[in-house]
Amino acid sequence: MSNATAAPAWAELAGQEAAVGQLSRAATMDSPTHAWLFTGPPGSGRSNAARAFAQALQCEQEDPAQRGCGRCHSCLTVHAGTHADVKVMATENVTYKIDEIRELISLAQDRPSSGRWRIFIIEDADRMTERATNVLLKAIEEPPARTIWMLCAPSPADVLVTIRSRCRPVGLRIPAAQSVADLLVDRDGLDPALALFAARASQSHVGMARRLARDEGARQRREAVVHLPLRIQAASDAVALAKELVEVTQEEAKSSAEVRNAEERAGLLRALGLGEDEKVPPKLRHHVKRLEDSQTARNKRSVHDTLDRAMIDLTGLFRDVLALQLGTGAELVNEHLRDELGSYAHGVTAERTVARIDAVATARRRLAGNVPPLLALEAMTMSFLPDRILDRRPGQQA
Ligand SMILES: [Zn+2]
Repeated sequence: MSNATAAPAWAELAGQEAAVGQLSRAATMDSPTHAWLFTGPPGSGRSNAARAFAQALQCEQEDPAQRGCGRCHSCLTVHAGTHADVKVMATENVTYKIDEIRELISLAQDRPSSGRWRIFIIEDADRMTERATNVLLKAIEEPPARTIWMLCAPSPADVLVTIRSRCRPVGLRIPAAQSVADLLVDRDGLDPALALFAARASQSHVGMARRLARDEGARQRREAVVHLPLRIQAASDAVALAKELVEVTQEEAKSSAEVRNAEERAGLLRALGLGEDEKVPPKLRHHVKRLEDSQTARNKRSVHDTLDRAMIDLTGLFRDVLALQLGTGAELVNEHLRDELGSYAHGVTAERTVARIDAVATARRRLAGNVPPLLALEAMTMSFLPDRILDRRPGQQA
C-alpha cells in the first residue's frame, strides 16, 4: 500500500497521496494556515482527512516525521472523537442552525486546554445557511491564536466565495476501487475478491465498502435496493416498493449505527486503557459521555444519510445500465449483476435510462429538502415502470 510508510494517522486515506503529502507537511509547521477547506465527492474521506490532520497536529511526538503516530494519548483520543481540543461539528439537521455556529465561535475564543491547537471540524459546511456562513466568516477573518478551522464540503462551489477565499483548499479525489480494496485487505484482513466487490459496489466509499465487505446483512440490504427497479411491473408495485425502500433503509440505518457505535465505544475504552467489560471509573466517565452524546446526534441523521446512500446505489445501477446500452465498455459498479443488467438494458431505451437517473436525482434533492420520504420515493419509483406502461401514460413520463 502506498501509505504504508506514512504515520498511522494517514493510513485510512486510500488513494489520496497528494492530500496526505500536503497535510503531513503542514502538520509539522510552527504556524500552519488557520483555515482549511476539504472538498471531494461523498466517500472520498473529507472528514476522515480532516480528522487525520487534526490527529497529526495534536500528536505528542517531537519528530515531525512521526506526527500522527497513532499511539500517543492525543492521537488515540482524537481518533476516538473525545479529544478536548478537537471539536467535530456534524449537523443532525438538514442545515446548521445559526445558534450552533455561534456556540462554536464562542468556544473558539478559548485557549487549547491540553493540545497544541484548538481545532474545529465542520462536516458538511455546505449545509450552513448564508446567515450562519456570514457569522462563521467573521471568526475566520479574525482568528484567535492557536485556533484552526477545518471545513468539509463536496466541492469549493458549495461554500460562499468569501469563506472559500480565506481557506487553504485540500482536494480529495475518488480513489480507484482497487486502492480501496487494498486498504480493506491490508488493514482489515478481508478477502481480496470480497474487498474488490465491496469497493466497486460502494463506488469507492471507504466506510461503506468496509461495511459491505464485513456484514452480510448490509450486502443483502444493498442487493434489495438495487434489485428494486428490476422488479417493478405495475403502478401498484411502484407504491409498494417505495414503502419497501423506506423500510430497508431504516433497518440498514439502525444496524449500521449499532455496529459503528459499539466499535467506537470499544476503541475509546482501549484508548483509556480499560477492558471491554470493565467498569468505567468516575474520573473517565466524561469521555464516555462525550462519545455517547455525539453518537446520539449522529443516529438522528443516520436514516437520512442511509436513504441518500440508497439513492447513490440506484444512480450507480442506472449508470451501469446506460454504460451497457451505449456499449462504453466501462467497468460496472454492479459488475456482479452484469448479466441481469444486460437483459434489463436490452428492454429499455437509453433515453429512459437518463430520465430515471434524473428522477433519482430529483428524489434525492427533495429528500434533502425534507419532503416526506415515501412521497419523494413514490414519484421516483413511478419513473421505474416498464417503458411499455410509461409509453401509454404520456402525462406521467419518467
Ligand atoms: Zn501521536
